[in-house]
Amino acid sequence: ENDLAQPVEVPKDKLLGDLLPTGFEENSCLSRYQSLLYRRGVPQKVSPYLISKLRSYEARHKKCGPYTNLYNKTVEDLKSGRYSSTPDCKYIVWISFSGLGNRILTLASAFLYALLTDRVLLVDRGIDIPDLFCEPFPEVSWLLPLDFPLTNEFNSFNQKSHQSYGNMLKSNSTASALQPYIYLHLVHDYDDQDKLFFCDQDQMYMQKIPWMVMKSDNYFIPSLFLMPSFEQELHSLFPDKETVFHLLGRYLFHPANSVWGLISRYYEAYLSEADVIAGIQIRVFDVEPGPFKHILDQILSCTVREKILPQISQQERPVHPSTRQKRVAVLMTSLSPGYFEQVRDLYWENPTVTGEMITVFQPSHEGYQQTEKHNHNRKAWAEMYLLSLTDKLVTSSWSTFGYVAQGLGGLKPWILYKPENNTAPDPPCRQAMSMEPCFHAPPFYDCKSKRGVDTGAVVAHVRHCEDMSWGLKLV
Ligand code: GDP
Repeated sequence: ENDLAQPVEVPKDKLLGDLLPTGFEENSCLSRYQSLLYRRGVPQKVSPYLISKLRSYEARHKKCGPYTNLYNKTVEDLKSGRYSSTPDCKYIVWISFSGLGNRILTLASAFLYALLTDRVLLVDRGIDIPDLFCEPFPEVSWLLPLDFPLTNEFNSFNQKSHQSYGNMLKSNSTASALQPYIYLHLVHDYDDQDKLFFCDQDQMYMQKIPWMVMKSDNYFIPSLFLMPSFEQELHSLFPDKETVFHLLGRYLFHPANSVWGLISRYYEAYLSEADVIAGIQIRVFDVEPGPFKHILDQILSCTVREKILPQISQQERPVHPSTRQKRVAVLMTSLSPGYFEQVRDLYWENPTVTGEMITVFQPSHEGYQQTEKHNHNRKAWAEMYLLSLTDKLVTSSWSTFGYVAQGLGGLKPWILYKPENNTAPDPPCRQAMSMEPCFHAPPFYDCKSKRGVDTGAVVAHVRHCEDMSWGLKLV
């Protein structure tokens, strides 16, 4: 008999406590139900209100999604520049922009905005979105049709575009006849007018516009929590504020089968036998390629100090092959192989004081960011996902790659502080307050008094980030 041939049992709670909808064909997206096999620990509690909101979103998506009659009708209006004050369906179009970690965070942000404003989310496929993710909504696709009339303009939309909300305000065109669409520029270089997106009054104007086309590279959800008009709704959807990205992420982002192959093969081969899995995500924002000694020192001092890895011992101690030692698998990710090789060698060349066996490995070392390449992004997604399956996670400051891993995994990582002047900071790292991503470019403006304000000090659940003092995160 062959052990391997035994059927794998899929746990009963396949729908993650009704977070996920029914009605999918299982083989089209293996990760949707199989991910439970690898996740230690269940997802955070889901509020019944969020579940009902998701089901009504799915109904709206089915009614208004690509090539439905109502979609065709609103697209016709858009083509002919006709404004309809009572469209049956309103949309937010998400433009594929920036690195994969950033894209995942902005997609979750756009979806929450769609939930809050009764819009339908349509996704520009960019180079490879359908190659990376399964469809999250049953029956009708989330992908923006290729013949969408504005697609050719997506690349040229920027801070200067006259169709942007900020520039419309400046030219006073929000006062004249309403348009069938506006462009929302929420990229880090946005200006004070663009930032008025986060004011209730401006939202009242936007509410009337059938098509919104959005470009962003920021997780802007924390600032939505500061808007009085969304406050009650957000509170009902997420009684536990730090689970916003975790739950939206588990709902939306299911690795496509090709990526799931990368994840499941790696997990089975390298991680499944370990007693403890530690993840270490190294992202160095430096022009020099490295590896740098001060970063290796920082990794080691953080992991040993926080008891993620044991100290090495100067004393040889015999290993008894008959007694099973505790095994710690260390999954490292980085664009370069240098750090992983040195950590691996250290734990081969030296015993540990606890006697634990440390295996260290890294799936890829791609050298540099290659966002336009399919296999590169598949690996990046697989690695973020594998990091999310660890028990203890160490991440790098400022990296959205790490934020995605911590959020999906429901983990509070230890964040390595950003080194200054080529020295490892002391302390080398600290544990995050919450599993939420950081909004790197939030507005500091009070819409009511029309004055600057410290938006990280307004409510208890929106705070400045651990890794970026001006950023905002939910806690
Ligand atoms: P951020 O720049 O760290 O915020 O993360 P992004 O995901 O937005 O952009 C970085 C991109 O560089 C990723 O999407 C990958 O393409 C690549 N990259 C960075 N670190 C890694 C890594 O550890 N592994 C792999 N495979 N790719 C990486």
